[in-house]
Amino acid sequence: VDYDLLSGRVPIGDHSRRPPATNSHAVKAVFVILVRNHDLYNIRYSLRQLEDRFNKKYNYPYVFLNDDEFTEEFKELTTSTVSGKTYYGKVDGPMWNYPEWINVTKADQARADMERAKVIYGGSLSYRRMCRFQSGWFFRHPLLDQFDYYWRVEPSVQFYCDLDYDVFKFMADNKLKYGWTLSLHEYRETIPTLWETTRQYMRQYPEYVLPESDPGSLWDWVTEDKSASYNGCHFWSNFEVGASLRIVGWIGSIKFLRSEQYLSYFNYLDHVGGFFYERWGDAPVHSLAVAMFLRRSEVHFFNDIGYRHEPFMHCPTDRELITKCYCNPNDNFVARSVGTTSRATRRRTRISSTRGGLWVG
Ligand code: GDP
Ligand code: MN
Repeated sequence: VDYDLLSGRVPIGDHSRRPPATNSHAVKAVFVILVRNHDLYNIRYSLRQLEDRFNKKYNYPYVFLNDDEFTEEFKELTTSTVSGKTYYGKVDGPMWNYPEWINVTKADQARADMERAKVIYGGSLSYRRMCRFQSGWFFRHPLLDQFDYYWRVEPSVQFYCDLDYDVFKFMADNKLKYGWTLSLHEYRETIPTLWETTRQYMRQYPEYVLPESDPGSLWDWVTEDKSASYNGCHFWSNFEVGASLRIVGWIGSIKFLRSEQYLSYFNYLDHVGGFFYERWGDAPVHSLAVAMFLRRSEVHFFNDIGYRHEPFMHCPTDRELITKCYCNPNDNFVARSVGTTSRATRRRTRISSTRGGLWVG
């Protein structure tokens, strides 16, 4: 947190060719997109759908971030695809590079080992930088200073359902801190010590953590053996390579991530070094933070947002929602998994859906 975010190191550009949106937004919210120049057409594919299903009615702005300079072509062809203002920023310095305490030789060795073990992205340094950035930095980028809510978007994702309400205002009106559409297992080999490190953090900073005895506690979503282990690894046999719940496609409150609690958790993890010595993903990190810090009433499963990030899709199966969507509900991740997995898994799915959200591995 010692990085001076207002040092002006990150160039801020507004390349909007359109008149500013006439809406005065009820909520200060933004789409945030980390992307590379070569993903131009894949991100336009996502943007077109996001605009058609939702944002053409609301004109929320976009922040595009990159560890390289965006090309003029990228800026022109993304700005002309969307209805909201666009901002383009660079990610560098402490947000992207190794912190000084990281032993680079040890990190190189860890990547070589994971590459040999054929762990997905196991040999990639850029993937680790990305996960660390998404875990602890994107919400501190100066371009996001003015916003309270964000919706993360990636290249090549799809949105299937017309949304006729303001999702961000819904978050604010209901005091929601975090929302998601899909959850599944993380690859266990990528987070061997994340659970133990998180438990150590909780012992060291009990004042930050919502007690498990609190009726709003979400802790039982991530463990079923009184915190001895992550429950994720037992959830789904078809994803037993994973140990944690992986959230793909999520909308959250920046205030949650900018909180003292969350930052102390991120800093703790960052000093332990698992983003580089293992391959900790931002999804399990965010999920554990949600389970530690937030109440049930502050998280929301967006059942009405039909969404695909390969190879999985969330497609609503309720009659009244189907009419607003064009995905096939039979291909819904949960519907499909429930049809093919064990009774224990089906029971778990049912239990979690009655908690106001589907939390499945
Ligand atoms: P996956 O979904 O876990 O397979 O990972 P992705 O390759 O989709 O990366 C997650 C997000 O980070 C996407 O929005 C990518 O565009 C972005 N991303 C990943 N690596 C880099 C990188 O090295 N540079 C930039 N600028 N964006 C990246
Ligand atoms: Mn992706």
